[in-house]
Formats: sequence, structure tokens, C-alpha cells
Amino acid sequence: MQSGDPDAIVVGAGPNGLTAAAYLARAGFSVLVLEAEQEPGGAVRTREVTLPGFHHDLGAAFFPFGQTSPALLPLDLPGAGLVWRHAPIDSAHPAPDGTCASIARDVDATARSLGEDGPAWRRIAGWHAATRERLLNALLATPPALGALLRFGPLNLLRLAQVALSSGRGFSTRTFRTEAARRVIPGLALHTDVGPEDPCGAIVGFMLTLLASSGGFAVPEGGAGAITRALLRRVEERGGSLRCGARVEQIIARQGRAAAVRLADGEEIRARRAIVADVAAPTLYLRLLAAELVPARVQRAMRRFRQGFGTFKMDWALDGPAPWSHEDAARAAVVHAGDSLDDLAEFTRQVRAGALPEHPYLVIGQQSLADPTRAPAGRHTLWAYSRVPSSIDGGWASSRERFADRIEARIEELAPGFRQRILARKIWAPDDLEAMDANLIGGDLGGGSADIRHQLFFRPVFPYFRYRTPVRGLYLGSSYAHPGAGVHGACGRNAALAVLEDEG
Ligand SMILES: Cc1cc2nc3c(=O)[nH]c(=O)nc-3n(C[C@H](O)[C@H](O)[C@H](O)COP(=O)(O)OP(=O)(O)OC[C@H]3O[C@@H](n4cnc5c(N)ncnc54)[C@H](O)[C@@H]3O)c2cc1C
Repeated sequence: MQSGDPDAIVVGAGPNGLTAAAYLARAGFSVLVLEAEQEPGGAVRTREVTLPGFHHDLGAAFFPFGQTSPALLPLDLPGAGLVWRHAPIDSAHPAPDGTCASIARDVDATARSLGEDGPAWRRIAGWHAATRERLLNALLATPPALGALLRFGPLNLLRLAQVALSSGRGFSTRTFRTEAARRVIPGLALHTDVGPEDPCGAIVGFMLTLLASSGGFAVPEGGAGAITRALLRRVEERGGSLRCGARVEQIIARQGRAAAVRLADGEEIRARRAIVADVAAPTLYLRLLAAELVPARVQRAMRRFRQGFGTFKMDWALDGPAPWSHEDAARAAVVHAGDSLDDLAEFTRQVRAGALPEHPYLVIGQQSLADPTRAPAGRHTLWAYSRVPSSIDGGWASSRERFADRIEARIEELAPGFRQRILARKIWAPDDLEAMDANLIGGDLGGGSADIRHQLFFRPVFPYFRYRTPVRGLYLGSSYAHPGAGVHGACGRNAALAVLEDEG
């Protein structure tokens, strides 16, 4: 060990890596963050990828946890320059039949939009208002989080269990009467790889719906990259540093303890106390660690590891706002294209069968509605993704343009005249996403499947669900650990807390 060696190395400068680094630096650790790409942020970056003056979020774009996550709040990101913006409606779910159910942070606005299902929504929203903070604390804490669960309360747990034991279709059909309201929760669940018919699938969409109605689908002024800049500022002001273009190829253990990393060019950098990996779990266990350090059972689990669906993403520069038929969609941060429960179920079946979906479900983001700095005056950006198989026969090169056209046709159904507004478009097939961020294996944006079998004690593999790994001093702090995808910083914070606990 040399005196210049950092106490902790964080591998990967995604939001979880930077959150881990910020917590460690606050605790007095000297921290070095090593990032493979030429810029930090992982899936939270912004760039002009279509035309000059149009700022597009490369990955994550809407941040319900931004102002609510107990992992991010203590870092006071607004104090580090981050400005949040909101659209009047957070999530709109229009269909070609003219119906549209919308979720807003305003309970009355949501209830009005849901019509005869308004009272059912008021009951859910009332419960959520009374439990919101305790629920997030329990959800984002290191499992099993017994203290936080006790504070949440047995009756509330029972209520949540009733949701958790249902499929998205089952819960929605039981709770709502109209097809418009019924498509909301299963529609939001498909941000992950959870389909309407999946057993125990309701909880994912239910949580996302609650988040849309509380934290809201907020956007950072200037682009998602502003979150990364604010996190980095919190790391650097406590003496931490970042090195980009530094891909870690190996994590070295000495005397049974994580001791150093080796970069692609052979350089070895030692860590005095801990290494936190903001990397994909299969990469950590099958590539970065020597096989003799990883129990055979963990290796087998990683070879069988189930990634979530692939993601096919597009960015557009538009001559004006998308001309939505329904006025709610024109005022929403996020618009979801998914006509009905049956439409969403058929979409899920096709993706699981390895086919390119015929009628793609879409998550469509309108960042420039809330944040006009994203585009030149009067013009707009549009961002959208569909879920797809992670690979397809013949590769993406032969079908990407065709599928992009299909996505545009789908938007055109809900916003006639949309195609005439397009100035330029950029396509990100699953392999493009993985090339920009190695954690997005096969275009999976979720750090592995969000299926119930991959949650809590099984994320990413039992018994290493508490951020520790089989190698002492090495921690997994990426979204492959609990609680998974989303820009909440909880995986990074919890890994840092594990380091601090072990290091006294
Ligand atoms: C298209 C898309 C849309 C999304 N939309 C949303 C959204 O709207 N809202 C939301 O909350 N979430 C969204 N997400 C999910 C969210 O972005 C992720 O859950 C989050 O970024 C995970 O953070 P992370 O730090 O674990 O990993 P990442 O953000 O993936 O960062 C990992 C970092 O580690 C680096 N790295 C990997 N391997 C190495 C190595 N060997 N050496 C050095 N560096 C390495 C990578 O280059 C990367 O910078 C979206 C993701 C995508 C891709």
C-alpha cells in the first residue's frame, strides 16, 4: 500500500456509483471513481444526438425518486445546482378510441380523468399520502429492513401484500371498472419486463403509479445529465475524484480481500479499504473476479442470470410539439401507448417469443414541455422506447429502421400529423445501448429482470443480496442489487453503508 492509494475505489460512475462515492466521501474516505466511458453518468446523460440545440437524454429521463428518495435527499442535489421541472400531468394513457386515463400529482385532476374510477383512485391516493415516506424507506432500505417494515405497519403490509399477490390484470380488473383506468398499472409495469398476466406482477406497476402521483415524473432543467453533475459535485467537494476512460478489467484479491483493480491497459490501482462495483452482476462474478474467488453456485446462477427485456429507444428533434389527439397527452411528461390490457398482454407475449412486436407498447417522453431549454424556441424534443427481445434473428442492422418506422406509425395513431413534425431522428437498438453503457446487457435497462423471482433476497443472488460479495471488501452497488432499476441512488447508498459498517 502506498500513502496515495485511495481508501475506496468505485468502479462505474452511474448514479449508483456516484451516490456510493458521495456517501463514502462524506464519511471521510478518500475515493476514486473509475469510469469506462469518456464521461460519467452511465444511463443518466444528455447529449445533442439529432441536431444542434436539441438536448436528448440518452437513457433515464423522468425521475419520480429525484425529490423523494431517502438515499438522494441527504445529498441535497438542488443545493448542488439541480433544478427540477414538472409538466401539469405526469403520465397519460391515451388510446385510439379517444379515452385517456391520466395520473397527476394533483389527486383531484387524476380522479377527474379517471371518471367513474375516480373514487377508487382517491382511496389509493389517500392511503399513499398517509404511508408515502414510510413505504419508500422500507422499499429502498437494505433487505430485510425489519425496522422500516415495522414502522410501515402490519395493516399497511397486509394491504401491500394483497397487491403483491395479484397480477397486473387481476388487480386492475378488481380495482377499476373502465378499460382506460385498467390499462394504467399494467402499462407502467412494462417499463420493466413484467407483463399484465405475470403472477405477482401488480406491485411493479402499482409502485410506479404511486410514484408518478407523488414524486411525479420530474425532469431536470438542462437534461438528465444535470443529476450526474450534481452527484459528481457532491463527490468532488469532499475530495473524491473521477477518472474517465478507465475500464476495469479485473478486481484483484490478496489474502482473501479485495485489494486492487486492473485497467484495460494493465495499470493496477490499489484500494486501502473497499471496492464498490457499479457494474452488472454477471460481469462482476464471471469476468472481473477470478473463478477461484467465486463459489461455483454463484457462477452457475450468473450463467443462468435473467436479464430484463431489451430496449429499443428513439430520440426526435421536432418542429413543434407532438400533435396529440387527446389534450391530456399534450400536457403530460410521459405518454404511454398501450390500448388495452389485451394489447399489452399480446405485446408481452410477442417480446417473450423473441419477435419484434407488431403493435409496440411505448413509453414516450416530452421533456421539452416542462423544460424549454431542451430545444430551440418553439421546437421540441421527443424520447421514446419500446421493449423488445435483447437480440433478434439476423441482428439489429437489418430491422432497426423498419422497427423505428413502426414506432412512428404507433405514435401517429395517437397524434395524427406527428411524422410531418420530424426534423431528425436517432435510433438506439439494444446493442447501441449496451455499447454506450456496459451495464445495459442486451439493452436491459433494469439491472436484470424485475420479475418477483429476482427481487429482495434473490437480487442478484442469494445470499449476496446485502451488497456484500463472497470477497471481503468488495461490494455490489449497481441496480443489479436491491431495489433495482431507477435513479434513486439506493443501491449505491446501501453498498456504501455496508462498507462503513464493516469498516467500523
Ligand atoms: C433507455 C433508458 C431509459 C430509462 N428511463 C428511466 C427513467 O425515466 N427513470 C429512471 O429512474 N430510470 C430510468 N432508467 C433506468 C436507470 O437509468 C438505471 O436504473 C440507472 O442508471 C442505474 O444506475 P447504475 O449506477 O446502477 O448503472 P448505470 O447507470 O448503468 O451506470 C453504470 C456505469 O458503470 C460503468 N461501468 C460498467 N462497467 C465498468 C467497468 N468494468 N469499468 C468501469 N466502468 C464501468 C458504465 O460505463 C456506466 O457509466 C432508464 C434506463 C435506460 C437505459
